[in-house]
Amino acid sequence: MAMEPLLEQLFSEIRAPLTPSEHAMIERAFAFAKKAHEGQIRKTGEPYLNHVVATAKRLAEWRMSPAIIIAGLLHDVPEDTPFTIADIEKEFNKDIASIVAAETKLGTVRYQGVERYAENLRRLILSMAQDVRVLFVKFADRAHNLETLYALPEAKQRRIALETLQIYAPIANRLGMGEIRGLLEDLSFSYVYPKEYTWLTDLIKGKYEEKKGRLKTVKEIIRGELTLSQIKNINIHGRTKHLYSLYRKLLRYDRDLSKIYDLVAIRIIVENVAECYTVLGIIHRLWRPLKGRVKDYIAQPKPNGYKSLHTTVFSEEGEIVEFQIRTTEMHEESEYGIAAHWQYKEQSKDPLPTEQQSRLHWLQELARIQKELHDKKDFLETLEELKIDVFQNRIFIFTPKGDVLDLPENSTPIDVAYAIHTDIGNHCVRARVNGTISTIETKLNSGDIVEIVTDPKRKGPSIDWLKFVTTRNAREKIKSFSRVGVSSWIRSIIPSKQPLQK
Ligand code: MN
Repeated sequence: MAMEPLLEQLFSEIRAPLTPSEHAMIERAFAFAKKAHEGQIRKTGEPYLNHVVATAKRLAEWRMSPAIIIAGLLHDVPEDTPFTIADIEKEFNKDIASIVAAETKLGTVRYQGVERYAENLRRLILSMAQDVRVLFVKFADRAHNLETLYALPEAKQRRIALETLQIYAPIANRLGMGEIRGLLEDLSFSYVYPKEYTWLTDLIKGKYEEKKGRLKTVKEIIRGELTLSQIKNINIHGRTKHLYSLYRKLLRYDRDLSKIYDLVAIRIIVENVAECYTVLGIIHRLWRPLKGRVKDYIAQPKPNGYKSLHTTVFSEEGEIVEFQIRTTEMHEESEYGIAAHWQYKEQSKDPLPTEQQSRLHWLQELARIQKELHDKKDFLETLEELKIDVFQNRIFIFTPKGDVLDLPENSTPIDVAYAIHTDIGNHCVRARVNGTISTIETKLNSGDIVEIVTDPKRKGPSIDWLKFVTTRNAREKIKSFSRVGVSSWIRSIIPSKQPLQK
């Protein structure tokens, strides 16, 4: 019997070789989903089955393992059909059933407004800290929901797209999943900022193609030079910037497109780290680099684990070109981040590489803070702070010793001081930023070297600092210092047997 076209499409997306039993299990999962969703129609008018197959296809495209692809096929079964988690466990196995179960718990939220947002965020964080694969299925599910968002009422469109920009995309970014983040953001952009979206698409109409055309010569020259230097297995391609990421960058550059050099960048992928530096040398021998634009993210990876060499040069006829140089491994990592570890295979026995460990650690830390928050009365207020702290764009700051601190955008020397040590924060009087004396409220930029100047005579933080600090850590330390101050003063005037709390 001929294979169903939908199933055939799914198999054609799976690049990894499948064992006969994996192949058979995917076929069974497809048949199971088909039976379970029989007769169900989505708002778009399509059969519901299309949605779960689209989710599974996206997971296959991200090179996820068979178990994750199967969980994608089954992710809406317990919620919308007569079949249960127990049925899935019986038909398949415990592992797949547990991913689907976590997926389902994420789906049903009773609250409205900001509480709904908070509850959603809390559940998402808790379940992904337990099993990060839940997150991959959730992202693929969300991507297809965004692709078919046009079928929903306007208010719902905006809510889902906004939630994606505020929660999903920043998490994808923090876990190093650059490609997945870009996809989710671009699919949400037009629903959240319709006017800006139209403005931008008009602005860049034809610009990508124009730039790509001008880069053709540059690509040919570099390919010739690399071949002469006997560098084998090179992949050279033009990388076009994601739309939403271009939009955010334009806002930082007075909306001036001529200041954006990486609308299209040339990406060079080689076999090993030594070759990355060789390629950089060759590029700089051919063309003059722009000052301050050479970035070695191999020696100093970004806080989210991103590694590459970047440089921007004046090429033929004064064209400004950005190059990104990396190994295949770095490339996979930068596109899929933590997900790269789950590609093709089930969780392997080998220990996670260091960056992956720090990403997992970040997730667990986030889950811990979330749990703590849940018991507090000022849950929502603290959550707002947490949201700002965790999901803002990050910058990284160097200490004079070369340590790297990962902080939110708009951080100040006070945030840096408290990130180093509470005592340093409490006694901070000014800072040296890149060697220049600066005030404690200076907004720092990524890559700044910040030296904190303390004065032991200083009595402690000023409550005014709360007006400009950015991190939750600094804010809490400043507040708790003043709380201690106030409560000990109260104790001194009202002798009390009851401990003074809050
Ligand atoms: Mn779904």
